[in-house]
Amino acid sequence: MNIDKIAVICDSEDYDSQYILQLITKARSLADYDNSKVLVCCVGPYHKEKLQNLSRFGADTIIICERPNVTDVWMYSDIISEMLREHMPDMAIFPASDFGKEIAAIISTVFEAGLTADCIDIKRNKNNEVSFYRAALNDSVIAEIQCKDSAIRLCTVKKGIFVESILEDRERCNIERFPYEITYNNKNPVQILESKKISNNKIVDINKYEIVFCVGRGVKKVSTYKRIEDLSKRFGAVVAGTRVAVEEGFINKEYQIGQSGKSVSPKIYVGFGISGASQHIVGIINSGIIVAINKEENAPIFQYADCSIVADIDDILDEIEKII
Ligand SMILES: Cc1cc2nc3c(=O)[nH]c(=O)nc-3n(C[C@H](O)[C@H](O)[C@H](O)COP(=O)(O)OP(=O)(O)OC[C@H]3O[C@@H](n4cnc5c(N)ncnc54)[C@H](O)[C@@H]3O)c2cc1C
Repeated sequence: MNIDKIAVICDSEDYDSQYILQLITKARSLADYDNSKVLVCCVGPYHKEKLQNLSRFGADTIIICERPNVTDVWMYSDIISEMLREHMPDMAIFPASDFGKEIAAIISTVFEAGLTADCIDIKRNKNNEVSFYRAALNDSVIAEIQCKDSAIRLCTVKKGIFVESILEDRERCNIERFPYEITYNNKNPVQILESKKISNNKIVDINKYEIVFCVGRGVKKVSTYKRIEDLSKRFGAVVAGTRVAVEEGFINKEYQIGQSGKSVSPKIYVGFGISGASQHIVGIINSGIIVAINKEENAPIFQYADCSIVADIDDILDEIEKII
């Protein structure tokens, strides 16, 4: 099949957030396969600079509905449906945020379209079809999914799966204003009577960090963990972990990296005592430089590492502390 247009849907007024830029970069690489166009659908204020910035990452056309503060998911979905109906892209990529997932689900029923949630990759296969990949069967397999009878193929993609990249010599993109009259009946069966923001200061977004220190089962002692934590502060790194490190209580589940955790793409990832199981590697593969410290020279993580250190973690920490 030929793809004419791929749409990326913004889920907030932060049109050029790193997350949306990651999705646009991926859409661009898929669109280049057929020389097709990338549309970005936005709802919110007309912020020319932010919108133009999207062209540097591969957007050809921006469609903006100038309606600030649309928080009603039904209205937001109605606007996006109208945009998609008018431009009829072959594929639409949504962020897998809570709001993005809700919109994608509503749109899939409006268009009776196939929706693959939480994709970890999107590829054109050798038959020229679009394949979406996601973990399935309790995360034990990676499923390849194709939407055969959908006019439009929908997917949501987790943050950090793709890496944003600026393209050289991009022309400025077209920005089209999208007029919207409220025509929909309020279908929302839920009425919000009051809302309160819950702040959880302890949880941080691990994708914000350029350096990630990741601990695995090899970090057996609390004292070793503390040394890694102290070191992370000196380098401005975040400390994350494998599923084992979460199960052993060293790391909060929010900081788990891998198939059933988060995907990261920092400039530098340092794995301390991590074997390199495929379920972990899938979450780190887009890192800039992978440094692995493991005492077993045959540890699978070394196959992916740019810098392999065969040593005991505490010995390496001693050396680093001596240097700094
Ligand atoms: C459905 C499913 C989903 C999963 N999802 C995830 C996920 O999201 N994230 C994830 O990480 N895993 C996930 N897993 C688990 C995954 O399969 C591995 O079990 C896990 O990643 C292993 O963690 P680890 O590397 O910390 O431990 P291990 O595999 O036990 O490796 C520990 C390593 O530390 C080294 N070591 C030991 N002592 C030292 C020392 N003193 N100095 C240096 N090196 C040392 C050892 O040589 C060993 O290689 C999932 C599994 C399943 C089945």
